[in-house]
Amino acid sequence: MAFTLHGIAVSDGIAIGRAHRITQASLEVAHYLVDEDRVEAEVARFDAAVKTVQDELKTLHEGLNQSAPAELGAFLDLHWMILSDAMLSQEPRAVIRTRRCNAEWALIQQMDALVAQFDEIEDAYLRERKQDVVQVVERVLKTLMAAKLGNTGSSSIIGQPQRNTQEGEMIVVAHDLSPADMLIFKDHSFAGFVTDVGGATAHTAIMARSLRLPAIVGIKNAHALVQEGEWLIIDGVAGVLVVSPTEEILEDYRLKAREVALKREKLKRLKTARAITLDDHEVELQANIELPSDVPSALAAGAQGVGLFRTEFLFMNRATIPDEEEQTAAYTDVVRAMQGRPVTIRTLDVGADKLDFVGGKNAEHMRGQANPALGLRAIRYSLAEPQLFLAQLRAILRASTHGPVKLLLPMVAHAHEIDATFHLLGQARAQLTAKGIAFDEKMKIGAMIEVPAAALSLALFIRKFDYLSIGTNDLIQYTLAIDRTDEKVAHLYDPLHPAILQLLAQTIHMGNRANVEVAVCGEMAGDPLYARLLLGMGLKQFSMHSAQLLEVKQAIMQSNYARSKELVASIMHADEPQVIRGMLAELNG
Ligand code: PEP
Ligand code: MG
Repeated sequence: MAFTLHGIAVSDGIAIGRAHRITQASLEVAHYLVDEDRVEAEVARFDAAVKTVQDELKTLHEGLNQSAPAELGAFLDLHWMILSDAMLSQEPRAVIRTRRCNAEWALIQQMDALVAQFDEIEDAYLRERKQDVVQVVERVLKTLMAAKLGNTGSSSIIGQPQRNTQEGEMIVVAHDLSPADMLIFKDHSFAGFVTDVGGATAHTAIMARSLRLPAIVGIKNAHALVQEGEWLIIDGVAGVLVVSPTEEILEDYRLKAREVALKREKLKRLKTARAITLDDHEVELQANIELPSDVPSALAAGAQGVGLFRTEFLFMNRATIPDEEEQTAAYTDVVRAMQGRPVTIRTLDVGADKLDFVGGKNAEHMRGQANPALGLRAIRYSLAEPQLFLAQLRAILRASTHGPVKLLLPMVAHAHEIDATFHLLGQARAQLTAKGIAFDEKMKIGAMIEVPAAALSLALFIRKFDYLSIGTNDLIQYTLAIDRTDEKVAHLYDPLHPAILQLLAQTIHMGNRANVEVAVCGEMAGDPLYARLLLGMGLKQFSMHSAQLLEVKQAIMQSNYARSKELVASIMHADEPQVIRGMLAELNG
């Protein structure tokens, strides 16, 4: 029977496919298809991991001393038995052979099936044994991944996923996904995803938009209600998930999906057009990127530069921190590929919802923070780890010899943070000079305006920096005191709150007056709904994910700058939400 679930639409478009449920444990493992000729090697890899864990459990049991509680031995025995059950030790081999799933994926599927059987058990004690199943499987997964790291010398735990034509029809259903999980999606071609939790401007949602993946977050119970393999439709515009649709509904949505695809195809014609209003006012549209591999899409969308390179993504899903050489290579790749267009490289903005930065020391620390969004993140973290920061600064400086590079600092609020950063920058320059390494002495330095304190002490920022970039995602989060990742307060996340409008308008105005460039690189800049609003505030630089660029360009090209300015001036006098929304509708009309 068809039914619908509702959530927060974070990335529009229509996706039709079969449900692929991802469990918490499976989040950290790779899902990919192995080549035909590698299937037996994959079975052997699986067998070896099972054997290792069985041996480990045996050794642990044998090593127990007399005083150890009897339960401990029984517990190790139980785990050994669970692992030796055909369902976990034999069935995954069949899954690898018949469906060519990688070992980790095959094992997870069996674990899910087994856990589901346990869920059916009436006896509460026995039902709870499913935890043991999960623990045993996690042990095997760790072994598989450790072996992979050791074998390949690669620092990535994702492995090298291989493309699969069937993946395009798969819709990922998860309780939660992190931005690091989303990086894995970059290498796959799932049709879309839905999660139980999450907010519209959390990085997971931002990545979904960048990947053009129709997505809905905050559905609350999708993971519990949707079954593996069930047909799903994501209506990313309305934020509706249709489960088990009838043939009639499916046909309806197939038509809609074709319309969306056609509209996008048409937009491509605007690639080389200038972002110029009907009354000849031109603005600049740049791209936000996460990895060097995003550059081709930025160029394909006609981006005039990179307005935000979120470098923290280089640090995710890996066992070690990228060193200065690796960072220099990554930044240089981007700068070269952008062929003379400016590249804005933001220093590490780790923390908040981007916790999966692995370097050992910080991941655990971050998780332990009661309120990571207010904690040791972004510039605060970099200043607390000067060696790490210096390496990144040197890498960015080194890349600046290959094209125009702008350095961007996240989450700055205090004058002493600015001073400390400039001090370290001086040190980084001196270290390079001492080694005879070249860099652009005039590299522009800018700050994100994303903490209300910065927006409210703008004169200081204007004096100290060459340019500013407004991060509306965090600016809204901190001004309205709502966690951008929490779906329970998502309804309070309002870019049109009069306080936000004031901070935005003032920042843009003061920057323009002082001749200091101001850009917006938060999600507001990529939403066509706000294009005229920002234009009317006098914004000259918009930076957004490539996937959003042509739509925003179209909105600008259909606008009248003088009229936008006039209407925005009157919006700035309003403070009633309905009035503001009504005026915005008029502006966009
Ligand atoms: C922002 O806060 O608006 C921004 C662009 O930075 P991030 O989304 O990476 O926090
Ligand atoms: Mg931010």
